[in-house]
Amino acid sequence: MKNACSELVFRRSELPISREFVLSQNFIKTALKEIMGYSDMISDITNLSQSIGNIRILFSAHDDNGAVFVTGEFQGWMSIPCTRCLGIARLSLDGAFDAMLLKRTNAKRHIKPKVDSEQDLEVNFDDLDIGFYEGKTVDIATIVRDHVVLSIPYILICSDECQGLCQSCGINQNTETCLCVPVTHI
Ligand SMILES: [Zn+2]
Ligand SMILES: [Zn+2]
Repeated sequence: MKNACSELVFRRSELPISREFVLSQNFIKTALKEIMGYSDMISDITNLSQSIGNIRILFSAHDDNGAVFVTGEFQGWMSIPCTRCLGIARLSLDGAFDAMLLKRTNAKRHIKPKVDSEQDLEVNFDDLDIGFYEGKTVDIATIVRDHVVLSIPYILICSDECQGLCQSCGINQNTETCLCVPVTHI
């Protein structure tokens, strides 16, 4: 498995389950790499700080006639490059997710799930992620990673006072001073 986070993988025969654990550093790195432009900065962050983040996750899952329902939440922080100076900004994360996974072979033809009217399923499908599983194993790593990535703002500044990079020479103006004449736009 490429993004091994074994706690996010379970067998249908284990259901129902409830798990609480800290996501692996590798998982967070993989999530960051999915964001455009961040992949090059991952090694910088890793060099500068011991830990790239700490995200605690809690989820529960149950099986309902072959459909696997997962509900979870996550909370913590991760190191993200500052949009202005490319230094490290610490971002607090807080999110939740609801997903339904269908067996791939049965699910191909349905865009929306078929809900048996005899069952009392009180599910709002608009707020639900729909995914797939194959065989006896369910892997929710992609669903969790997508939600972690979506909870990261497009612009994140390390501090309100961040001076950013000099537009002429590129030094970090928070830590260094240069003699460049400020760029003026006419
Ligand atoms: Zn900054
Ligand atoms: Zn400069």
